[in-house]
Amino acid sequence: MEQAIIKEISVNPVNIPLEEPFTIAIGTKYEIENVIVTVRLDNGIEGYGEAAPLEPINGENQSTVMATLESCREFLAGRDIASYRQISKKLKSVFWAQVTARCAIEMALIDAFTKTLNIPLYLFFGGASKKLETDYTVDIVSTEKARVNASKLKGQGYRILKTKVGKNLIDDIDRIQAIMDGAPGCRLILDANQGYSPVQAVHFLKELEKNNIWPELFEQPVVRHDKAGMRFVKDNSMVPIAADESVFTAADAIEVVRTGCADMINIKLMKSGIIEALDIAAIARSANIGLMIGCMLETRLGLGASVHFAAGTGGFNFVDLDPHLDPVKDPFTGGPHYEAPFYKLSDVTAGIGVQKQFNI
Ligand SMILES: [Mg+2]
Repeated sequence: MEQAIIKEISVNPVNIPLEEPFTIAIGTKYEIENVIVTVRLDNGIEGYGEAAPLEPINGENQSTVMATLESCREFLAGRDIASYRQISKKLKSVFWAQVTARCAIEMALIDAFTKTLNIPLYLFFGGASKKLETDYTVDIVSTEKARVNASKLKGQGYRILKTKVGKNLIDDIDRIQAIMDGAPGCRLILDANQGYSPVQAVHFLKELEKNNIWPELFEQPVVRHDKAGMRFVKDNSMVPIAADESVFTAADAIEVVRTGCADMINIKLMKSGIIEALDIAAIARSANIGLMIGCMLETRLGLGASVHFAAGTGGFNFVDLDPHLDPVKDPFTGGPHYEAPFYKLSDVTAGIGVQKQFNI
């Protein structure tokens, strides 16, 4: 490969209204407020990266991401694209708390690098598989709406449904029952997004048990730092527990292993960046902990990068990469081919494979 040098980067905000407000236990989002990074190389290749900040999760928002990325512009120009790991290491040492901004840069660098190598991103990660099956999330809505939505999703081909819980125990159980009624035979994932106390979480699982509801996974029942509380939930139920907000870094993953508080780790590129996500996956594999991949509210670009990551590295038991954007409003086209509930990578020839649909 001939040396390719970063000529310039551009940083653009993207704001796209959501079809339906997206509610989780810690708040509601009405639009996507992300940032797109474009890295231009001297060989004419462009790499794209996305930051999808969510304040209560990672302490960043669109403005802080824009400011961080602007601060990196000078540092990046003139560097060899092949030195993406050194660049990432340096940025982590400086902007250690701005992980979604750093993720956008890593994504753009690796997209540009694999386009320069002329290989699809999933091969760069190991090429373990070319296909993934995703679940789809039924939002926190009324019981009747949840039943209708679940039935519609089953009709579209989804076989694994996820719903958010942790706001109100009685409503949660009613909604889950409605989902199971609307989509009989579908597998179920529950996510409390830190919404319960350890005792409430165990009580909740016991109530489900009484109703003969057996979720395949229960994500982040308690507040992220309460590893002992999470271990209590794990020890008092047969339902596998996943650590999501508890794991941002490889050190967090080691802490999960050390405390034995979870059966699975939910990796999101927006929590760890791409390079650290590889370390987290390796730690989980070594400790016989399962892997899940999730996302924030992302465009086709961010979702596409996660699809390449999970398919390429392999070993992911659960995939939670359900698109929430109307493709017409998405700033990107191409990338992994999506036909519910499967992502297929066979058509991607280089990089993530997405193209800009609008001039952003
Ligand atoms: Mg989660």
